[in-house]
Amino acid sequence: MHPSQYLPRVMPEPLKALVDLALDMRWNWCHLSEPLWQYIDPDLWAWTRNPWFILGRVEQERLNKLAEDPGFLRLLDEQLKMRAEVVTKPGWFEETYGKGSLGIIAYLSMEFGLGESLPIYSGGLGILAGDYLKTASDLGLPVVGIGLLFHQGYFRQALDANGNQLEFFLYNNPTMMPITPVRDERGDWLKIKVMLPQRELILRVWEVKVGRVRLYLLDSNDPLNTPGDRGITGKLYEGGEETRLQQEIVLGIGGWRLLEALGLNCEILHLNEGHVSFAVIERARSFMKANGQPFQVALACTRVANIFTTHTPVLAAFDRYRPNIFLPYARFYAQMLEIPVEEFMALGRSNPEDHEEPFNMAYLAVRGCGVINGVSHLHGRVSRRIFQPLFSDWPQKEVPVGYVTNGIHVPSWDSNYSHPIWAKACGEDFWLGISEDLEEKFAQIGDEELWEFRCASRLRLISFVRRRMIKQRLALGLEEKTLERCQHLLDPNTLTIGFARRFTAYKRPNLLLHDPDRLERLLTNQERPVQLIIAGKAHPEDEEGKRMIRAWIEFLNRPQIQGRAVFIVDYDMTVAFELVQGVDLWINTPRRPWEACGTSGMKVLVNGGLNLSVLDGWWEEAYSPEVGWALPHVDEGLTPGEVDAIQARELYRLLEEEIVPAFYDRDDRGIPTAWVAKIRTSMAKLTPRFSSNRMLREYTEKFYLSAARRYRERVAGGGDFGVRLQHWRQHLKCNWSKLHFGKLEVQRTDEGHLFRVQVYLGEMDQEAVRVELYAEPLQEDGEPERWPMKAERPLLGFVNSYVYSALVKTDRPADHYTPRIVPHFPGALIPLDDNHILWLERKQCPL
Ligand SMILES: *Cc1c(COP(=O)(O)O)cnc(C)c1O
Repeated sequence: MHPSQYLPRVMPEPLKALVDLALDMRWNWCHLSEPLWQYIDPDLWAWTRNPWFILGRVEQERLNKLAEDPGFLRLLDEQLKMRAEVVTKPGWFEETYGKGSLGIIAYLSMEFGLGESLPIYSGGLGILAGDYLKTASDLGLPVVGIGLLFHQGYFRQALDANGNQLEFFLYNNPTMMPITPVRDERGDWLKIKVMLPQRELILRVWEVKVGRVRLYLLDSNDPLNTPGDRGITGKLYEGGEETRLQQEIVLGIGGWRLLEALGLNCEILHLNEGHVSFAVIERARSFMKANGQPFQVALACTRVANIFTTHTPVLAAFDRYRPNIFLPYARFYAQMLEIPVEEFMALGRSNPEDHEEPFNMAYLAVRGCGVINGVSHLHGRVSRRIFQPLFSDWPQKEVPVGYVTNGIHVPSWDSNYSHPIWAKACGEDFWLGISEDLEEKFAQIGDEELWEFRCASRLRLISFVRRRMIKQRLALGLEEKTLERCQHLLDPNTLTIGFARRFTAYKRPNLLLHDPDRLERLLTNQERPVQLIIAGKAHPEDEEGKRMIRAWIEFLNRPQIQGRAVFIVDYDMTVAFELVQGVDLWINTPRRPWEACGTSGMKVLVNGGLNLSVLDGWWEEAYSPEVGWALPHVDEGLTPGEVDAIQARELYRLLEEEIVPAFYDRDDRGIPTAWVAKIRTSMAKLTPRFSSNRMLREYTEKFYLSAARRYRERVAGGGDFGVRLQHWRQHLKCNWSKLHFGKLEVQRTDEGHLFRVQVYLGEMDQEAVRVELYAEPLQEDGEPERWPMKAERPLLGFVNSYVYSALVKTDRPADHYTPRIVPHFPGALIPLDDNHILWLERKQCPL
């Protein structure tokens, strides 16, 4: 069946191929195919950016004309060829590692932001997931995405004249979105069944094409479900605690079942945030059934191929379910797993004995995965602190959480203006390949060329803002003069600053508004004015966020500010797309370290925008004086109010004394040479580093390949490894409490220190543990030192007790080193597979 059958009309034969393009999110979002949709209907394209909708809506007469228009048919042919070429060419992965070197990587996420035509995302997390899929297609990674088809998605925003936020949940009509039902081998619509306590839930399955990659969406809106159950996949991040839990069950458990129903050989399971952690349970349950093994063995075998990426810098932001809500579900699933309910609850608790403790989805992810990572260098560190309670007595340094800094899909966020510059510097398919050091290549691009491209980009943004503001003001019922006034909003030669993000306290969207009069002076300066474009939504329950929006509107309503600063409502990917292409400066002022990574600032890089940001998330890694500006750290002892005041003053100072002068100091060609130099360095140095190309290569090379290798080893004997591992863990559990240290002696030698310590192993098998010396790194970013100790001789008169020794070659003082006993088992991940640890207490054994 040709997918054009899903359109509410008959497509003329020569245009049928258009349907394939319209259904491919990798191609209908990027501007490469923009001329095509524009040609069909420029207005429909400008307002919806939804090719599938355009094909359903445009008048039949227009389609019939296009079917005979050689110019259009040529354009279509070109696009199809280009896409076919890119999609069939072996990608980076196949070229580097060979086809089949990895099974399927299943990427599960609560939201996916692929484009405005599929509004099932809220913000950064979803857009990251969308960019991930597009990049997997470019690089040829064998990825499959799994998500939910929300009937209403996230709320849409309007503001009344006083700046009060109005919220709307629109209906996501499936016939207007580029999705198609998935058919099983008999031609029936594929359905997945998931058990909820006492009932079965039916889930319909939709498919989204993203280049070579497929995204599958689960949808509970089947008439055979009860009304309440039909609504489970209704709204994103809305609804009560139990609905949220049910969504996570649908996505995690239903997601894994779907992979099996599709017959996909999934090797890697990548959890994008803890929302999807139930998938590790279902994966283990499936292994249990296939191999006749108990749950813990199945989990031990499968967890090594599960990867958990956390995006949250505070414990409170993880999903946690109170026992009264969670227990009925826990009882039900515990029964299916044939384990006691308390064992199930313990998977999501830091203290399994505490029966009041809520069930934490991130804890479940940590206990069910073999790899855990944060999304920036700093966030890795913060996450190690967050998950420390699950590894009590382990040094924070050894909490097994790494990091991969996020990146953005550059071909989705670059503009028609920046594209030719990149093509000239690096070649057309640059973003499909490997990035290298580009500074030399960018040295060939002249100042004039860079500056002209920036000015054209700014002009385009301003015309977008004017169009949007007309619509926005008319919607408020504002008077006639609106049109005329909007046509003169903003100025194409003025330094243009963008600030768009979620309005919530930690993002401090009002730091720039700290001293409104000083901001007004900055904007209204006669010779060197500044203009401002703001956007962002506050979650419907975030009163503080809504208050901050009102404060901005109050400021923008000042008569002197008219025409110099605007608030664009309903921040979404389209608004972001226009903003990041046109602004000169992107500002980000989160409260450190709450911005786990941040990606919007990365989107301006490819387009020659510059960043001014708090040294948090990605900017801490990216910043140097030649690429932009940073708000420095403030002493941690101060109150939040004091920190805000200091950072706001510094923000104004940077703008007044450094940024505005750099923009307006021109040479005799009219070019701000210092500014342009920064653009060149920022584009060349940072764009490849903060691209999702780099991010996916890192995931592959740091995590996927080794995780797949470990997984193959663990599952090889149908679970033998897991059985042995489980025996060993049981042995540790029974005998750990009897381990203890005796006396420690240290001798200074020419080479370092010779440590000797008495160890009483009780009934512990000597091979099941390792005795070693541990020292904290001297530098914050260094690696700790670990020196294995050897059993030198038995302790006379004691059973299974030894003197362990090690010669530590070092200049550091001996008291930097502490003996400890840790679990040991070939092939085990310590401390993930077992987190026992015993330290020699220095108090008892003075050196
Ligand atoms: C990129 C993007 C985000 C994420 O930006 P942050 O830097 O995390 O604030 C959020 N919303 C939209 C619409 C985006 O395009």
